[in-house]
Amino acid sequence: MSLKLYNTLSRRIEEFRPVEEGKAGMYCCGPTVYNFAHIGNLRTYIFEDLLHRTLVHDGYKLTHVMNITDVGHLTGDGDDGEDKMTKSAREKGQSVWDIAAFYTDAFFRDESHLNIIRPDVVCKATDHINQMIDVIKKLEEKGHTYIAGGNVYFSIDTIDDYGKLAKLNLDDLKEGARIEVDSNKRNPKDFVLWFTNSKFKDQIMVWPSPWGVGYPGWHIECTAMSSEYLGNHFDIHCGGIDAIPVHHTNEIAQAEAAFGVKPWVNYWCHGEFLINDKGKMSKSSGEFLTLSVLEEKGYDALDYRYFCLGGHYRSQLKFSFESLDQARIARQGLCRKIAQFKAEGKPAEVLDEKAQGYVDAFFEAMDNDLKAPQALSQVWSLLRDRDVPDDQKLRACLMMDEILGLSLDEVEPLKEESVEAGDEALRLLEERTEAKREKNYARADEIRNRLLEMGYKVVDTPSGAKLERV
Ligand code: AMP
Ligand code: ZN
Repeated sequence: MSLKLYNTLSRRIEEFRPVEEGKAGMYCCGPTVYNFAHIGNLRTYIFEDLLHRTLVHDGYKLTHVMNITDVGHLTGDGDDGEDKMTKSAREKGQSVWDIAAFYTDAFFRDESHLNIIRPDVVCKATDHINQMIDVIKKLEEKGHTYIAGGNVYFSIDTIDDYGKLAKLNLDDLKEGARIEVDSNKRNPKDFVLWFTNSKFKDQIMVWPSPWGVGYPGWHIECTAMSSEYLGNHFDIHCGGIDAIPVHHTNEIAQAEAAFGVKPWVNYWCHGEFLINDKGKMSKSSGEFLTLSVLEEKGYDALDYRYFCLGGHYRSQLKFSFESLDQARIARQGLCRKIAQFKAEGKPAEVLDEKAQGYVDAFFEAMDNDLKAPQALSQVWSLLRDRDVPDDQKLRACLMMDEILGLSLDEVEPLKEESVEAGDEALRLLEERTEAKREKNYARADEIRNRLLEMGYKVVDTPSGAKLERV
């Protein structure tokens, strides 16, 4: 089966046909590093990781590019507001460069805990100012820009299909409530390519340009960096759905105008939001959950990865600790099975027809617009199938983990003593994990002592707590 992806541009599921046979170029909008990524942001990177892994599994020679927005873009998608990086630096009394470096490191720590494969190219906006200037010059030469109030604007009226990605109806476009109207704009949807007239007196990150000392608009970053590494026409561009109406819309407008290629990108893939009781999780709302917070509460980062696998990337996913608990129990159950299989012996060299059937169904689900929940259900059907021997199950699960990314290869074989652990001991172990999560350490210690009396020592490992005979 070949890979099929939902393309936001056509609003249809399409067969993936690369620009160049056997290769795939994918650009993903990366983090804005003025704060920690929240678990909603991380959901989007997990979805992109699933796409990465599926493309590689399908044999494509993938070039995955992700930017780091370290210039600091503006509050909201419009061209107004305060520079987030400067604001964060001021609040923390650090330099903007320190802030960017700190949060970039924190981001990659989260990514590695989540087993997100690092993109082939990670590029910082601040290292590509010249490339951005070059694209703006091209746009200027072709008559798509104007200068007003010291800033260079892209004029959307110079192209005939602005807003096609978002299917915007230009007649009833309304600016967001908080956006103050920029009187320099000829059309409210025009956007800044280069600022020389910063609204902030203390703008720190500035560079010389043909239009004066200043800094780039947000949208030009991604266009300049994607073309630098993937060329002027490439396969896939990803991001969260919030990027559709403004950021990606503006990227398409300026890239197609500058490079003269239509469509500039063949497949636009967008991940839906992680939501909570109050709606979309967002950085600007101030209250958000980070991966570190989950880890401090006793969860493994992979519990969150497993939780995300349980929802299709194009559906909203509602976060709650109850659901995360379910995910953790399921993941630990899977790891325990793997540990048990490993204790029994080596994985089968070759898959028999039955086990292969599950593996095929798993990869088919992923090829079918990354249906991770269906793929995951194949894992559990396989584990429940009494006709499939354990060494077959072990091999099949390790193959499926190529996409799941749950580090099943690192799960230690269950110690013989632990295999014998009675049901009651296992139940108590589960209860202790729950008590720890709820920060009920007294109960957790009580259970640990009870288990010791029963002859079991609790050993905490990255894949969950285990029992060993004392
Ligand atoms: P940012 O660092 O704010 O630019 O966001 C990084 C990525 O996370 C972007 O692709 C956003 O579209 C995405 N994103 C933002 N909020 C959410 C959310 N609540 N759920 C899923 N993805 C999100
Ligand atoms: Zn972008």
